[in-house]
Amino acid sequence: MAFCKKCGNAVDETTGFCANCGTALKSSSWDGGVLDTIVNSIVASLIMTVTCGIATPWAICYMMKFVIGHAVIDGKRLSFDGTGAQLFGNWIKWFLLTVITCGIYSFWVTPRLYQWIASHIHSEG
Ligand SMILES: [Zn+2]
Repeated sequence: MAFCKKCGNAVDETTGFCANCGTALKSSSWDGGVLDTIVNSIVASLIMTVTCGIATPWAICYMMKFVIGHAVIDGKRLSFDGTGAQLFGNWIKWFLLTVITCGIYSFWVTPRLYQWIASHIHSEG
């Protein structure tokens, strides 16, 4: 049994609304903190700079895990299960395709990256 965050009334989760006060139960939010965000940004930057950019896929996954892991969409927490090693494989492929096409493929890299990220986002339940 779930309870309304606003009034504490016991609610039927299937309706999506509190019968007592009308608050939407399946709200979307992001619950990361300011300090967490600063620390994660610093760590991600360090991962990239220390390795001269080679570990960028790991830095991206690190940030995605943090950003997506703190997101609650329609009452369901999201999770990100992509790993740096998986992304690194794509990274090499995208890099080679960009070199082969004299840079033309670089236009495809960002949408491919977003597609890859999206395919590794899951919601609870
Ligand atoms: Zn309520």
